[in-house]
Amino acid sequence: TFRAIRIDKADKGTTAALTQFDESELMDGDVTVAVEWSTLNYKDGLALTGKAPVVRRFPMIAGIDFAGTVLDSTHPDWKPGDKVVCNGWGMGETHLGAYAEKARVKGDWLVRLPDGLSARDAMAIGTAGYTAMLSVLALEKHGLTPKDGPVVVTGAAGGVGSVAIALLSKLGYHVIASTGRTSEEAYLRDLGAAEIIDRNELSGPAKPLAKERWAGGIDSVGSTTLANLLSMTKYRGAIAACGLAAGMDLPGSVAPFILRGVCLYGIDSVMCPLPDRKQAWSRLAGDLDRAKLAEITREIPLDEVIGAGAKVLAGQVRGRIVVKIA
Ligand code: NAP
Repeated sequence: TFRAIRIDKADKGTTAALTQFDESELMDGDVTVAVEWSTLNYKDGLALTGKAPVVRRFPMIAGIDFAGTVLDSTHPDWKPGDKVVCNGWGMGETHLGAYAEKARVKGDWLVRLPDGLSARDAMAIGTAGYTAMLSVLALEKHGLTPKDGPVVVTGAAGGVGSVAIALLSKLGYHVIASTGRTSEEAYLRDLGAAEIIDRNELSGPAKPLAKERWAGGIDSVGSTTLANLLSMTKYRGAIAACGLAAGMDLPGSVAPFILRGVCLYGIDSVMCPLPDRKQAWSRLAGDLDRAKLAEITREIPLDEVIGAGAKVLAGQVRGRIVVKIA
């Protein structure tokens, strides 16, 4: 057996507990990994608290991402001792997840830990930081450069937001950080934000078009915030939408698209194809300032994960939480 955070179905909703899990209960896969580090993402908070139906198989081991070392493999690409990162693919949702000392997964899901990135660094970045990188890559593919104008980051003090600010500022962008926690101004400026705005400025009903304020943006908030972002995006600019911290709706108009040629890019981390993942992890290894990553990250042991899950949903977690498993 090994230690794991197990989610079970209850009469009302679900329960989460740190227990022993039997190795024979692991699901099919061609690679078994000794999990060393995991992390706490917004989706993990939803799974741990049962606030949204993230978990679709019981029992489940929660946790959507891990870094660790291969123990056994029948997959041609992997051998014992290889250092790997795995995130998404339904882990913690339909496939047994990451908050466990062992995981068995498909070798096709794994990414080799890039040179210069430790397993702990990879999970300090985690799905949230990797999603921030996928968003930056989408904006770059659009053709956005720092000379096009400022970029806005919403949910700035959260996980996606914090990493997005660090990445964009390192790349030379003038970053406008939108946050509900203006008390975190010093933190956000340290990460590289040039301007801080109160998220209330972006949370009211959106006009079809408003004054052009930024050439691009990364939004982890959704709803009216995303609609406002689009209405304030400069001619031919682009927004990458990756989150729904304020809601799944998008109460806006097509005006930014048809009158300003603005583009809206959808970012999905879960089923993202392997080549894009490799590119994102390799860019993170190169572009993310390690001192800033340390500033963003707080470490907790496995037995504090369940309590921290509720805090992330309440918007009380600053930056990223890395979870020590081994
Ligand atoms: P997080 O650390 O909780 O960050 C979310 C941030 O959003 C909060 O820190 C807060 O920032 C802001 N926020 C929270 N509630 C809000 C509200 N009601 N109105 C406006 N802003 C609010 O979570 P995360 O791990 O960074 O994830 C952020 C979002 O991205 C989540 O919705 C998550 O599901 C999504 N996500 C999607 C993918 C994907 O594959 N597309 C991958 C990872 C994450 P401030 O305190 O600074 O305002």
